[in-house]
Amino acid sequence: MDDRGMRKFKAVFVLAVVLALVSCTWPAADPSDQRVEDRLTPEEPVDEPAENATADDCSPEDHASVANEELPALEIEMEVWPERIARGEYAIVRLGDVPSEGETRVRFAGTWWDTHCWEDEARIVVVPASYHMEPGMHLVEARTRGLDQKGVAYAWVHVLEGEFETQHLTVDAELRSKRSPDLWREDRVHFARARGTTHPIPLWEHGAFYTPLEGRLTSSFGLLRYINEEPAGRHSGIDIAAPQGTPIVAAADGVVSLAMSLHVTGETIVIDHGLNLFGCYYHLSELWVEEGDTIRAGETIGLVGSTGFSTGPHLHYTASIGDIPVDPQLWFDGDPLRFLP
Ligand SMILES: [Zn+2]
Repeated sequence: MDDRGMRKFKAVFVLAVVLALVSCTWPAADPSDQRVEDRLTPEEPVDEPAENATADDCSPEDHASVANEELPALEIEMEVWPERIARGEYAIVRLGDVPSEGETRVRFAGTWWDTHCWEDEARIVVVPASYHMEPGMHLVEARTRGLDQKGVAYAWVHVLEGEFETQHLTVDAELRSKRSPDLWREDRVHFARARGTTHPIPLWEHGAFYTPLEGRLTSSFGLLRYINEEPAGRHSGIDIAAPQGTPIVAAADGVVSLAMSLHVTGETIVIDHGLNLFGCYYHLSELWVEEGDTIRAGETIGLVGSTGFSTGPHLHYTASIGDIPVDPQLWFDGDPLRFLP
């Protein structure tokens, strides 16, 4: 080979080495990269993982290196209990070793949830599975950004179908008109305010919540309801029938975040129990509490009535995580956080 040939050979060789190096360090075209962008804005829609994704496609280990390019990566310890829940139930996420300063959020089923300080440098958050969710494997994504470190972690929750009843109600035109979409919309503004902020610690004493009224259970949680044969969504809580004027007690300690008359839910009370757990009481005849009141478990908060969209004296009780209703029986059966080991 002459000099010219040698120079050409060297040039080709160097180019080949450079290309080889580039191809080794170039990020793989992985759809999951979409999720690991340097973002913590809950409002921004982020693509759900591929529908057929399995736990193996996206185990936390696979993403240990994705924290980010600018700040040093932080390994987040994430645990979720229970790992299998039905629609209308919830899981508790505990994150260990996250920075005390900065921001740590968890996304589940398309919603970002703020986390709360918990024991030694840990944080927890309760994430609900709405009764509208598709059953299957759902991703839990945690992101933290401290002053000089940030990290991301993933886990999976298996959401089962759950069992719900069906109910057919027949009501007259006047009562039907109390449940129009416009009236619901107006009521929702008040619920959004009442459940938009929470106390960052549990306000209740450890243990099961009280059933707020002794009576006959007339409608179960999550039942599919038809009103005059038209689909009318799912029942967000339980209905307990009792004579007009029967005292209703607070299911647990908390602070009243709403006490007012609304169109559909009538005379209504919402109690913040902390950690985004809210108890909601509808259709009362009298409210005995005001917004801002601190309430003890078992205290009478009002009387049974039939105000708003109601066919007779009863209490409707909704247990919700933020704005998402969950099965109240989970709180009557034991401490709401009992799933934490
Ligand atoms: Zn009801």
